Amino acid sequence: MKLETDDKVIDYIRRRIRNSRNVVAILGIEMLVEGGGYDLDSNDENYRVEEEYGFSPEDMLSSSFFNAKVEKFYRFYKKEVLGMEVHSTPAYDALLQLQAQGKLSAVVSQNFHGLPQGVCFHNVIELNGNMHNNKCPRCNKDFDIHYMRSTAGIPLCDCCKVAVRPDIRLLGERVDTTIMTEAAIACEAADVLLVLGKNMYDDRLEYGVSPEHKQLKILFSKEEFVRNRTVDFVIKDDISSILPLMI
Ligand SMILES: [Zn+2]
Repeated sequence: MKLETDDKVIDYIRRRIRNSRNVVAILGIEMLVEGGGYDLDSNDENYRVEEEYGFSPEDMLSSSFFNAKVEKFYRFYKKEVLGMEVHSTPAYDALLQLQAQGKLSAVVSQNFHGLPQGVCFHNVIELNGNMHNNKCPRCNKDFDIHYMRSTAGIPLCDCCKVAVRPDIRLLGERVDTTIMTEAAIACEAADVLLVLGKNMYDDRLEYGVSPEHKQLKILFSKEEFVRNRTVDFVIKDDISSILPLMI
């Protein structure tokens, strides 16, 4: 397959990664999509979901919707979010290789889907929660994903009979500031920051890098409108095709 990215750019990034001692990767939507998931934020998915459920994914994945229409929330969430089967890709293998070399200091995930099976990073910072964790809002009892998937209708706490809540950040909710700070500190310290895909939340991970600290920041995204002035390169190829060439 012909790559869009110039060989010289690949060589340059590979050299910088080789010389780096601190690589941080931020996982976004494209990592999910390449692993067999889908982008609920895309126009096609938006249209399909609205046709089927009468609301957009953005409406339904909000805290106000969960509170007001929990039955509809779960009809959508169980099929479209919990039903997503996401597997590992060569991009994850490339990150694992960096980890084995002792270069990967943190993986910040903006997705709430958890990591594919078999992928294990030493330091994962989940900005928006993880759908594998679910809690009763009243008694705090934990429920696993199998319980959430297999229960008909609304998954209820067996003690309190109230709707269990996925431990993910719904739209309209703030990121946990402790976790955000932890992510910002990790990003700040990186020599190479790999931004692997876009974020479904509108917020951006803000952090400052002192002028004497040289950081190479690369954004991997196909979106044409992504014109981020703070990044050194925007790579439009599939992450799974290009990232292994840079390690
Ligand atoms: Zn309970």
